[in-house]
Amino acid sequence: MSNIRAIRGMNDILPDATAIWQYVEATVRELVASYGYAEIRMPIVEQTDLFKRSIGEVTDIVEKEMYSFDDRNGESLTLRPEGTAGCVRAAIQNGLLNTTQRLWYAGPMFRYERPQKGRQRQFHQIGVEAFGVATPDMDAEVILLSARLWRLLGISADVQLQLNSIGSLEARSAFREALVDYLQQHRESLDEDSQRRLDSNPLRILDSKNPATQALLDAAPALGDYLDAESRADYARVKELLDAAGVTYTENPRLVRGLDYYNKTVFEWVTDRLGAQGTVCAGGRYDGLVEQLGGKPVPGMGFAMGIERLVLLLEACEQLPPVVAAADVYVVAYGDAAQREAVAASEQLRDVFAGLRIVQHTGGGSFKSQMKKADKSGARVALIWGEDEVAAGTVSLKTLRSRNDAQQGQQSVAREQLEETLRALLAD
Ligand code: ATP
Ligand code: MG
Repeated sequence: MSNIRAIRGMNDILPDATAIWQYVEATVRELVASYGYAEIRMPIVEQTDLFKRSIGEVTDIVEKEMYSFDDRNGESLTLRPEGTAGCVRAAIQNGLLNTTQRLWYAGPMFRYERPQKGRQRQFHQIGVEAFGVATPDMDAEVILLSARLWRLLGISADVQLQLNSIGSLEARSAFREALVDYLQQHRESLDEDSQRRLDSNPLRILDSKNPATQALLDAAPALGDYLDAESRADYARVKELLDAAGVTYTENPRLVRGLDYYNKTVFEWVTDRLGAQGTVCAGGRYDGLVEQLGGKPVPGMGFAMGIERLVLLLEACEQLPPVVAAADVYVVAYGDAAQREAVAASEQLRDVFAGLRIVQHTGGGSFKSQMKKADKSGARVALIWGEDEVAAGTVSLKTLRSRNDAQQGQQSVAREQLEETLRALLAD
């Protein structure tokens, strides 16, 4: 029988890696709390229509990347490809939008893409969504929050902020018309993908990676010239607030986003350390989305970042958290009576030393083999129970690792002295 394997593009995250993931997650958790954001958890499966109506029918995601299926009732469901749509749906459905809401979420997303480094079919995002504030101070807040994360993770020198305003819906349609007019005249010079987009989603041509297309765009109408007065003023204010906070950015007039729901401010954090998958975080304002999904008109601003790419970047920048051993204390017991005492003592120690990692040897074996495991566990101290200890009512403590030479070696203490002796050994 052939082995069952994981689905292509859906990776196991193994114990060595989860330590890094937990570090990223813990850092984000603390960061978002410090800005007053509360966590929301949405289902992984939603009605397919939710994504069609929010992300847009003619986007890469909806056209070719969604995992959609009919459930047993014949209803079309989709594994969420991103978090904003579900978050907005949940906020409307649960009446969260009568006041300013600062929310964040984390979890797996699913897109049928060609798997490669930094691009999976199941990947993980952490996202932030702020509802109810239309003014650009909120844009700045959300961007500053993301900027602080890079500082906390020690990678701020390796990511650059790209910024643009794509204006109101009306401004964008006026621009789209002018862009299509221009590009129609050069249709034959466009690559195949861009030719197709010319009819379906011409703004996406702006972020084509094709050098010939990019050259063509140099002489094309500029989105900035079509911005409405309010978008222009808001954009200026966002930049002013970022300047005041000392966050640097590059204006990229060709930055559009792959999802239809954005307006005004859009931004991306990009790195040149991850090859083609260089965007680690992307977001923007989406003032029309809540209404589009059936709520009252409530403005929104947010971003999502890809955890896999972030972890790759931490590796590339050698900013990984220190490797921590799985154990602080390893408990060795030889013989039935010794084991009975040791197991009970370990439980008592766990009551007293909150957070201390106490690994109890299980599975028996010789004293020597148990000590080998103790050493391998990375623990600083081994607690040892053998026949002698049981008979004498003592326990032995062996220092396996210590910065203090005076603590090296092994000592036997009365059972009642265990707590105190251990505390002293660990304090060094
Ligand atoms: P890309 O252009 O790389 O496909 P995107 O514009 O489709 O990205 P968004 O929908 O904005 O990506 O998602 C936000 C972030 O989520 C991205 O910047 C990236 O870090 C991450 N991300 C998106 N798709 C994937 C994927 N398939 N695998 C891993 N991370 C992803
Ligand atoms: Mg994509």
